[in-house]
Amino acid sequence: MSAVAKQESKKKLKFSYTVKQRRWVGDGFHVYNLLNPAPELNPYISPFILMDYAAPQHFESTKAKKGVGEHPHRGFETVTLAYQGEVEHRDSSGGGGKIKAGDVQWMTAGKGIVHEEFHSQDFAKSGGTFEMIQLWVNLPKKDKLTKPKYQSIEGQMIPQVDVGRQSKLRVIAGEFLGHKGPASTFTPIEMYDLDSEKADDFTVHLKEHHNTIILVMRGKLELEGETYSERDILIFDRAGTDIDLSVSDQFKGVILSGEPIDEPMVAHGPFVMNTEEEIITAIKDYQAGRMGNLRRN
Ligand code: MN
Repeated sequence: MSAVAKQESKKKLKFSYTVKQRRWVGDGFHVYNLLNPAPELNPYISPFILMDYAAPQHFESTKAKKGVGEHPHRGFETVTLAYQGEVEHRDSSGGGGKIKAGDVQWMTAGKGIVHEEFHSQDFAKSGGTFEMIQLWVNLPKKDKLTKPKYQSIEGQMIPQVDVGRQSKLRVIAGEFLGHKGPASTFTPIEMYDLDSEKADDFTVHLKEHHNTIILVMRGKLELEGETYSERDILIFDRAGTDIDLSVSDQFKGVILSGEPIDEPMVAHGPFVMNTEEEIITAIKDYQAGRMGNLRRN
């Protein structure tokens, strides 16, 4: 640090895009795939790998189990943010539970886990609006085979900070204005939910050299003279620290920011490793039952 006050500068928009096509993940999650493991995209979004947004959708009451059956993961973390509705999960370690509206589940797949993800029985029975985000967060090479674990983060554990005049920012990971998020992460990450009742302007301070992504879920966002709306993804330069946001009434969005993991990445279906050899090992380990399975529970 120099004797001069900490230097602050604008984090500039690098590019943006909109996703209009929805696809089904299993029969329960009708998602917009907003971030994906394409090698061309990764340098701008690492440590994040994938983001699927199940935008608000009504589901009729049913006795059917809707979701995704048994499948493995290795080499990264899955983070599920439930906004409306409920997800029930069960895994090969014997763990399981519910992710309720407002909760976040941070699952470290590490060396391997097999799990299933469904609408909860209660939600399926009552029916209603479902809204969720699932993120895949990469692990650095040294932690890819770490022991699997869960962080079940309940809504009330997440600090809510007032920003601007009318806006609330939930600190899920990292810190914001001295408020620390409950998620423990392997690499430095900030993850915020942002909600504005009324139109508002404020500045979000992020970290120099972090990749930063904003998703607009509802409402409008004005930035550098352009207006962004539902399902727009904004990707920022690593350089700079401050983003001046101008949001409309009823704005809802997510801010992701993190130190890039600048290591080789090979993604194949549910496995994200550093080399092709490690992917082949992951496939063999899964096939041999070394990541466990649900039937044994
Ligand atoms: Mn999964």
